[in-house]
Amino acid sequence: MKLKSTRNPKEVRSFQEAVFIGLAPDGGLYYPSESMDIRPILKEMDANSSFNSLAARLTAEFLKDEISPEEAQDIVDKAFYFKPKLHRLEENLQVLELFHGGTCAFKDFGASFLASSMESFLKGRKNKAVILTATSGDTGSAVARAFHNKENIDVVILYPSGRVSPLQEKQLTTLGGNIHALEVKGSFDDCQRMVKEAFNNAELKEKYHLTSANSINIGRLFPQSFYYIWSQIQMREAGNPVFTVPSGNFGNLTAGLYAQSWGLPVKNFVAATNANDVVPQYLLEGKYNPRASVHTYSNAMDVGAPSNFERMEQLFMSDVDNFRKNIEGMTVSDKETESAMKSIYADYQYLACPHTAVGIEASLRYAKKYPGDNIISLSTAHPGKFLEVSEEILGITPELPEELTKLIDKEKKAELISSDISDLKSFLDRHF
Ligand SMILES: *Cc1c(COP(=O)(O)O)cnc(C)c1O
Repeated sequence: MKLKSTRNPKEVRSFQEAVFIGLAPDGGLYYPSESMDIRPILKEMDANSSFNSLAARLTAEFLKDEISPEEAQDIVDKAFYFKPKLHRLEENLQVLELFHGGTCAFKDFGASFLASSMESFLKGRKNKAVILTATSGDTGSAVARAFHNKENIDVVILYPSGRVSPLQEKQLTTLGGNIHALEVKGSFDDCQRMVKEAFNNAELKEKYHLTSANSINIGRLFPQSFYYIWSQIQMREAGNPVFTVPSGNFGNLTAGLYAQSWGLPVKNFVAATNANDVVPQYLLEGKYNPRASVHTYSNAMDVGAPSNFERMEQLFMSDVDNFRKNIEGMTVSDKETESAMKSIYADYQYLACPHTAVGIEASLRYAKKYPGDNIISLSTAHPGKFLEVSEEILGITPELPEELTKLIDKEKKAELISSDISDLKSFLDRHF
């Protein structure tokens, strides 16, 4: 698959190149520039087909110019030791649980696939790679978990001292081996600035083969299309699905749009946001006004300028009517999230994390408007990851998933550094 930058059609790369580059040099995002037809694959598969067999077929097709079907199968099998699950709330409303991976959030799908494909691509090369990433908590842990023990790859994670939750800190600092945690005396913005400075330093970048694993990486976006396709196959009898996607940066939703563009039958997408609703507002008014984000219960969706808007614009040729034909926007306030979490628990005995609750609330609204549609509502995180919110709103402490409880007694290992780039440089010099 040839990928192009959203900002420069002459910037063309193979998938293998694009995953190591991350963000295009012109600041654009890579998008699939050739058509792909998955309808023959859909025909082959039925509700008994395994997630991995489907993912391997899709990977082999997407990368048919670059890798063999056996390599595709290998990448997929190393990535997906966990699977999506459908949970039925009502006849026409299923929750697609995407939180059964190592850090109990849907980002495990993208991070895990990126890690195993990078490992596979590096086998044929002489060099190693160093992934450098700044985190305010969650995204870093998905990357750390996904790259743990991968060959020829080291991961350096910068996080702000005292500003991540204790559990998040454990997720970043207890893996060891090729995962190196740097506790920065500063803010998340300092961490991000240091990473940017390192990438802008050509000598440093070359010397250590620095690369990123941000959520905008096409290697994380592509595998997120798999669970849309898998769940459509599972629910085929119920009619073309409506997918509700709790959204922040819109990577998840964009992956669904790509699946649709490759031939997946989809009736509609619902873009569910919290008060950070620039996309629903755009659908209403036809004007795109990115703005500073505000803090909400569903904090992984607190994004005021979603980076994947660029990819959606490319797909829809910057025409708001094309957006409207495919996406319905829904905004769910904190107050509505609160009452949704309560009623989802009362009506279905189902514990939803605040992000998932935003999605289910939007799905219920949609079902009122269009009764009878087959709705698949994406669940993006395990409720146990957002204990405090559940305790505050429901008065219930959800059980922590085992994947996370295991970490509590493990010993933290992190190197404390200042927010000066020279400290990061010295770390790299000493270790690689
Ligand atoms: C990242 C994240 C989201 C938002 O996904 P995008 O792809 O950025 O739209 C939603 N919920 C949770 C729990 C997340 O971690």
